[in-house]
Amino acid sequence: MSTPPMIDAQRLSLMLNELRLPAIKHMWGDFAARADKEGWPAARLLAALAEHEIAERDRRRTERHLAEAKLPAGKTLDTFAFDAVPMVSKAQVMAMCAGDGWLEQGANLILFGPPGGGKTHLAAAIGLALVENGWRVLFARTSDLVQRLQVARRELALESALTRLDKYHLLVLDDFAYVSRDQAETSVLFELISARYERRSMLITANQPFGEWNSIFPDPAMTLAAVDRLVHHATIFEMNVESYRRRTAQARRSGPGRPASFTTPKVLEAVRDNQSLTQKFM
Ligand code: ADP
Ligand code: MG
Repeated sequence: MSTPPMIDAQRLSLMLNELRLPAIKHMWGDFAARADKEGWPAARLLAALAEHEIAERDRRRTERHLAEAKLPAGKTLDTFAFDAVPMVSKAQVMAMCAGDGWLEQGANLILFGPPGGGKTHLAAAIGLALVENGWRVLFARTSDLVQRLQVARRELALESALTRLDKYHLLVLDDFAYVSRDQAETSVLFELISARYERRSMLITANQPFGEWNSIFPDPAMTLAAVDRLVHHATIFEMNVESYRRRTAQARRSGPGRPASFTTPKVLEAVRDNQSLTQKFM
């Protein structure tokens, strides 16, 4: 039996560093010992090492994307009770979590409903699932992102700030309707919507239905133009349920709670039908 040729382990480590193959650097010793012991063909050893490097690379990438996504902690699909929001199809949500189709087209997802109905939870859970499936996501409270974009605008860097957001396949704008009515603030929001239109997706949560978005944008024509772009390719879930927390607290006390009377008018017609809006716009 011939003895395996000696190699310079230290030099191999350096070379693997140079090639940026940390998993192989970490594992080759154990794998090579096992291969020698079990008589693996050389090609099998090489393939096993390459597979581990790739798996480790994917894991690190997902970890980076999770850190950059700034998702609220602990909001997952597993902990989301779909039966509490019967108008939201679990199958449809699960299909959207694969990301194919809608994220490639820059389509949007809009979640409406009263406070406590699970909009933020569902948005975060979808974001998390998308990251796990290899997509890049940024979760932001709308008002925080608007502040950041305004700073960028003051520094004459709005365009590059918007371009930097392009790396995210999905931008979650939580509490869209909470933005204050200020010309400068809402115009960066409008520019963001225009910049991403048909290119990059957004997931928007809002307490107020479209019909009340006049209070977000100071100019009704701008409201209409923004809503038009957002809904052009959009899936809309109207989560008209009573606050989940209040409901579960009630259920603990006295059985199932009653559904809330909150309703959101239907989509774009709501804006179009709004007299003052239409008059100003026409
Ligand atoms: P919203 O953003 O619509 O105001 P949240 O997503 O913040 O509501 O929900 C309020 C709380 O109730 C959160 O702690 C959330 O995790 C929980 N919650 C709401 N809906 C559900 C649900 N369907 N299943 C599990 N937890 C829920
Ligand atoms: Mg919320």
